Amino acid sequence: MSFILIKNGTIINSTASFVADVLIKNKSIALIGQNIPKPLSATVIDASGKFIIPGGIDPHVHLDLPTPAGNSSDDFYTGSKAAFAGGTTSFIDFVTPSKGESLIKALNERKAVAENSLADYSFHMGITWWDPSLEAEIKQCIEKEGITSFKTYLAYKGSIGISYDELFEAMKAVAKYNGMITVHCEDGDKVLELQKQLIKEGKTSPRFHAQSRPAIVEAEAVEKVLQMASITQCKTYLVHISAALSMQKIKEYNLPNVIAETCPHYLLLNESVYDNDNFDTAKYVISPPLRSVDDNKILWKKLSDNCIKTIGTDHCPFNLIGQKDAGKDNFMRIPNGAGSIEYRLSLLYTYGVLSGKISKEQWVALSSANAAEIFGLSNKGKIASCYDADIVIWNPETESCITTENQQQRCDSNIYEGFTLKGSAEMVFSKGQMVYDKGDFFIKGIKGDFMSRKVNK
Ligand SMILES: [Zn+2]
Repeated sequence: MSFILIKNGTIINSTASFVADVLIKNKSIALIGQNIPKPLSATVIDASGKFIIPGGIDPHVHLDLPTPAGNSSDDFYTGSKAAFAGGTTSFIDFVTPSKGESLIKALNERKAVAENSLADYSFHMGITWWDPSLEAEIKQCIEKEGITSFKTYLAYKGSIGISYDELFEAMKAVAKYNGMITVHCEDGDKVLELQKQLIKEGKTSPRFHAQSRPAIVEAEAVEKVLQMASITQCKTYLVHISAALSMQKIKEYNLPNVIAETCPHYLLLNESVYDNDNFDTAKYVISPPLRSVDDNKILWKKLSDNCIKTIGTDHCPFNLIGQKDAGKDNFMRIPNGAGSIEYRLSLLYTYGVLSGKISKEQWVALSSANAAEIFGLSNKGKIASCYDADIVIWNPETESCITTENQQQRCDSNIYEGFTLKGSAEMVFSKGQMVYDKGDFFIKGIKGDFMSRKVNK
């Protein structure tokens, strides 16, 4: 039996903060309380002046994602190592079946790819095509495979994107088994039309990527999905909302079965990065693209008002050299994505908590507790007895600066280059094992588990 006693830290849960000791026994939190007596064999850690928060849960990452420009540059090993360094101990990645492929077959293949994950992981099951026969596989995913959420793309027509009609059928089937549909809202046909027009006019540099995907294209798709969510009553999760206009639609419909997610980059970066013809701008080629400063402000407001429930990173880095440069003469060929799995908690702490936009409890809700609740991770997201001992000892006093040189993620660039951070994950525990301590990793023999999920009734 192994015991770790963390003394005198300030525990921050999504609902309350208080000073107490935490006793870890093997993989779980055994006890929270004042002056817990030290078990004979326990390792004692003094956390005076530090925060004790539940390990981060990133509900949206794409590790080792196959694309025509090669796989996203972090695999499950390097990506989960970067996650640990930033205080994230679990994440949800994706299964992306090809058109016509069985969901279960694709799931088993993806599980094999994720074998080298250090952190605990789950998947959203992609629905990239529709046929009524998929309903049986959806049922199997939910009832037997521990996969309760399904990912659809209205963008990316011609590859993994589906039509509104197909989405409607998928929502009806997912609702029947009480699962959740998650949707990338950008109208694929409109994007394609704008892309073709820009290329025809010789507008091929990365800056035009953003022009091919204006906010209205997101908001229109959001509105159609809201209508379908209202009709089907399917639990619906809108990934990476980037635009104030989309939030306006969500507010207008005000549906209890709809949840919105955003990403750190839609809060902290804006479209001015596209105002040049340098190829380095390709690192900001993400979908949806970055929006205006006003959009940033409104999204922050929606976080503080609890209208946006989760922050996912959409972590999907690609190297500028050897990957993004596939599109140097045509922005349409630049693989979409950027990385930030290791910065989610520190960015949100520095620019959210310390600037007074959100409370510490909201920080924990947005980075861990809400994702656990929404996606059915019943043992995670809280510092409480019987929960998994996924724990971060957060030092609120450290100062650092993000650079490509000091990042853990495997990529030759960083969209947050030069951002300063206050506060950091000092010590990180994954299921009771200390995996990270002030820059050093202790990951020999560490292996993440597939998290089997159940639907919320
Ligand atoms: Zn994504």
